[in-house]
Amino acid sequence: MLDRFTFPGLTTRVVFGRGTLAQAEAEITRLGHSRVLVLSTPHQAAQAQALSHQLGRLSAGVFAGAAMHTPTDVTEAALAAFQGAGATAVVALGGGSTTGLGKAISTRTGADQVVIPTTYAGSEMTDILGETAGGQKTTRRDPSIRPEVVIYDVDLTLSLPVPLTMTSALNALAHAMEAFYAPDLNPVVDLMCREALRAFHSGLPVLAGDPHNPQARSQALLGAWFCSVALGSVTMALHHKLAHVLGGSFNAPHAETHAILLPHTTAFNAVAVPQALAPIAEVFGGPPGAGLWEFAKRINAPMRLADLGLTEADMDRAADLAVQNPYSNPRPFDREAIRQLLQDAHQGRKPQT
Ligand code: NAD
Repeated sequence: MLDRFTFPGLTTRVVFGRGTLAQAEAEITRLGHSRVLVLSTPHQAAQAQALSHQLGRLSAGVFAGAAMHTPTDVTEAALAAFQGAGATAVVALGGGSTTGLGKAISTRTGADQVVIPTTYAGSEMTDILGETAGGQKTTRRDPSIRPEVVIYDVDLTLSLPVPLTMTSALNALAHAMEAFYAPDLNPVVDLMCREALRAFHSGLPVLAGDPHNPQARSQALLGAWFCSVALGSVTMALHHKLAHVLGGSFNAPHAETHAILLPHTTAFNAVAVPQALAPIAEVFGGPPGAGLWEFAKRINAPMRLADLGLTEADMDRAADLAVQNPYSNPRPFDREAIRQLLQDAHQGRKPQT
């Protein structure tokens, strides 16, 4: 029971629905801009060009070079395009990589951001920016990083391939899982996370067989919004630390890594805070770690870090890195405990209680 809390408020304007991409022009104008640079990954360049075309004279062009973990050399190139075109705002169309590039441009120029998310990763509602320079990833939080407007268009997620749909959704669920035991949890985020569990639990099995089902897509995207709010509002712990270590130091793919770790980090912390994680057991079946593991298996998500090309020696080094700097977690741990958790995730073992 949350009987003492601070609710910091929600400052990002959200437009949600099917076909909402059509509202991009109105949202840009509402922010007072008349020249925006459209951002995407190379993979989504055609979609970005189509949006640029739709925006007409509001568009200053497209930069389609966004990449995972926001490398600063890509940001420099995008900045040159942004300044060269005389743009004053960015429109980021894509997943967390594209949103990250928009944030990186915004922190350097003060540009407003309109984000149009097409995965469930959840960067759009956060004040967090992770950047990579010289192989080192650094992360910081600042209120100015938060995008001004987020347009969720369910139609844009219809094309999300089934494997990425599942891993990206489990990535989102990891934000909710860690929010449940966050020291700064508030009742609004708590409600959103509970609703996100239900939305993904009912939506994902449908999408596994029918990826274009608009109702299930709508449920999943709503769940992603809730989880993104959680990530952007409260403190994350062990799960996000391990995902950061594996992504940052071993270049492990972001969504898959989160997806594989989630049942194991959940089981690990459920020992210390079973009450906090009870909502997961209620929706996915208990105990919470095993319930999530069974669900991940059912939706054909990847289960083993070994399948991502990570070796046992990588697990040794990851365990070393994960205990280098102390950070808050509901269950205290040492290197041995983390090494065991990583071993279970490496082999895809069902978490034991
Ligand atoms: P991504 O943005 O790298 O997208 C993966 C691939 O899928 C890309 O090629 C992309 O173009 C493609 N794609 C995206 N949407 C698609 C769609 N609807 N249809 C077809 N293809 C599509 O992956 P991601 O998992 O969304 O984001 C991961 C990155 O985001 C990482 O760098 C991570 O650190 C960052 N992130 C940051 C935060 C934050 O708060 N700062 C939060 C979550 C993730």
